[in-house]
Amino acid sequence: MAELPEIHRLSRQMRETLCGRTISSVELLQEKCTNVQPVEFAQRVSGAEITDVWNKGKWIVTELSNDENILLSLGMGADVLFFEDEKDTPEKYQVKVVFEDGCGYTIRFWWFGKLLLVKGDELASEPNTKGIAMDPFDERFTFERFLALVKGKKTQVKAFLMDQKNVSGIGNMYMHDILFKARLHPQRKVSELDDGDIKRLYDSMGEVLNHSRDKGTFAYEKDFFGQSGGFTTDDFLVGYKEGKPCPVCGEAIVSIKTGSTASYICPVCQER
Ligand SMILES: [Zn+2]
Repeated sequence: MAELPEIHRLSRQMRETLCGRTISSVELLQEKCTNVQPVEFAQRVSGAEITDVWNKGKWIVTELSNDENILLSLGMGADVLFFEDEKDTPEKYQVKVVFEDGCGYTIRFWWFGKLLLVKGDELASEPNTKGIAMDPFDERFTFERFLALVKGKKTQVKAFLMDQKNVSGIGNMYMHDILFKARLHPQRKVSELDDGDIKRLYDSMGEVLNHSRDKGTFAYEKDFFGQSGGFTTDDFLVGYKEGKPCPVCGEAIVSIKTGSTASYICPVCQER
């Protein structure tokens, strides 16, 4: 499942490739994934030029010159693939966007994703993206800001980081190593953390996510040009490594249940 490093890479590639191109047609084959009828969707975006692409947490926002915005959520995963020529499109897709010069991109959702069309003045109040917090790649996401965010919260630390209204872009995949590096048990209460714990957690988020970004992001996700990333399951420290030795103390890594998700931890390094 795509998390911040993968989404960040995809939105950057889309921005670099698509800005300045004018949409000639949109084919939307899965009505369930959108908020307007496919015919209306196509009418509202055809003839518009892409002016910017950016991410808000795990959502990718494509801004158009006519004040429309295309909001994309990959859901459980999706292939978003650029093509130079329409004859090279993959066999299966639910969305196809074609530009006036003949290139374009397709989207194939692995499960259900979302593709919404939102006018500029409705963007701030759009229910799916309203309230999504800043992500750790944002340069304004400073330690002071994170510290202020944490203070006064009573949830468990994993639930706190999973909540996209606190910090956006982190899901279950990178979480294990983030908490391990910070030496925090996922069920520790945020209110019990001292400033040192919070600093380790802040640094750990940056280190783990940047490490994946530096390696080209997760190997099972394709980028806009169909390339796989270089961050493999071997790169995880404790994530998905049940029974393997902890890289710090050698104790066997265990999987525990935390709410609806599993967590991989070292029971020695991450005491409850
Ligand atoms: Zn350990």
